[in-house]
Amino acid sequence: MTIAKETAELLGKLGVASDVLKGGDLIVRSPVTGEKIAALKTISPADAAKAIDGAHKAFQTWRLVPGPKRGELVRLLGEELRAHKAELGRLVSIEVGKIPSEGLGEVQEMIDICDFAVGLSRQLYGLTIATERPGHRMMETWHPLGVVGVISAFNFPVAVWSWNTALALVCGDAVVWKPSEKTPLTALACEAIFARAVKRFGTDAPEGLLSVLIGDRAVGEILVDHPKVPLVSATGSTRMGRDVGPRLAKRFARAVLELGGNNAGIVAPSADLDMALRAIAFGAMGTAGQRCTTLRRLFVHDSVYDQLVPRLKKAYQSVSVGNPLETTSLVGPLIDKAAFDAMQKALAEATAHGGKVTGGTRVENGHPDAYYVHPALVEMPKQVSPVTEETFAPILYVMKYSDFDAVLDEHNAVGAGLSSSIFTRDLQESERFLGVDGSDCGIANVNIGTSGAEIGGAFGGEKETGGGRESGSDAWKAYMRRATNTVNYSKALPLAQGVSFDI
Ligand code: NAD
Repeated sequence: MTIAKETAELLGKLGVASDVLKGGDLIVRSPVTGEKIAALKTISPADAAKAIDGAHKAFQTWRLVPGPKRGELVRLLGEELRAHKAELGRLVSIEVGKIPSEGLGEVQEMIDICDFAVGLSRQLYGLTIATERPGHRMMETWHPLGVVGVISAFNFPVAVWSWNTALALVCGDAVVWKPSEKTPLTALACEAIFARAVKRFGTDAPEGLLSVLIGDRAVGEILVDHPKVPLVSATGSTRMGRDVGPRLAKRFARAVLELGGNNAGIVAPSADLDMALRAIAFGAMGTAGQRCTTLRRLFVHDSVYDQLVPRLKKAYQSVSVGNPLETTSLVGPLIDKAAFDAMQKALAEATAHGGKVTGGTRVENGHPDAYYVHPALVEMPKQVSPVTEETFAPILYVMKYSDFDAVLDEHNAVGAGLSSSIFTRDLQESERFLGVDGSDCGIANVNIGTSGAEIGGAFGGEKETGGGRESGSDAWKAYMRRATNTVNYSKALPLAQGVSFDI
């Protein structure tokens, strides 16, 4: 069976009509073979605006549904995702090229965030605050915010939507989603899965609670500029964030920006090298280097460099690269030719700066439009460009260090601030790394890699990663508006700060 046929069958099982897949201007290809699997219609600006208006109407009803009841819809969404995990996971593998366990893992992450959000639906707590005035009560309440715009990247085509949507729904918001133009089919699948949950939930879920806008950047811009969208959660490159951030600021809308990473690891003299080796291999080569949290820079203490790096190189030379749908390879394809070209450009630049490259070449598999590569390990004499920028491909730059303070400085000396890790059994080093003058990233780990976060923590990073947080912890607060309420139940009107104003 061709991939196109299998895709249509999978989508059909999930409830997406096959006629949607034909006749449009947006050509969708599977990176697995490079073959065309659909041609979708792009939404017109007028229809996009209509969908946002519809979402705003849905919000006005949905916000009145009690939180725990809203949680029931998310519980049903989680059930539908459990029931369709195999199909959706396979579609992720087809559309992004992830190996099966990662395609399924992405759907598991969706299920996990639904479970988290169901609990949260009864825990949207405000505070009671001590007041300086007698006979008064002061408190904080959280109210639904409005339409949440979600813009997502190709590499986590469905999980990012679910992180935002599960929270937005329990918070009483409606969602309008602009998925990546490279991965619109998994978005249509999610829309159909969500529709099943809504059907089971019944009439309390208004029409328009979720809309999917198929299109490219121009459609994303409509969402960003629309006055009825008070929050846009945008995941993608730092380039995208540089455009989206100021546009949102201009109309005082909120932004949750989840942008590029240039994540580093430090291997200290006391590290468990077997553990470090496995974590580095997964962090740097997994998902073909196409995770925002992919390990891209590695600083190895010179006392253990010769023990670790030759073993790492061996792992690079032996890792299996190939078709994730038909083989048990650990590394699938790059998303497209542009990703391959960017990788080759970075490797050439690294070589020009004295880098010694292992791997990095193309793996031919009989499909000229599919881009498989041997992951590249590059030993660099020092941290210069292209090490300082994110290249969204499997390149790991390895550098020696000797001084802990100096390596912390090097670690933090890049624009991005997403994820980081240290491998050490030295308590002082690990605490320094996690402390105030340690890693400057939103995620800092000890003895585990940079990628593969759990949904319970707040996810996101600092600096050019955008500063946004989504998923666990108190990330839900971005999806609600906060009101401070003071109630006077006395018979007097004392003014704060002892001000008198007697008329
Ligand atoms: P991209 O920036 O090319 O596109 C991301 C999304 O933004 C797409 O839906 C695209 O259509 C839209 N878009 C682009 N420019 C826009 C604009 N000016 N206005 C509105 N919408 C716009 O990114 P990509 O290639 O799909 O994904 C890879 C990038 O995403 C990497 O940099 C990676 O690190 C980052 N990423 C970050 C996170 C995170 O949580 N920090 C997660 C996944 C991916």
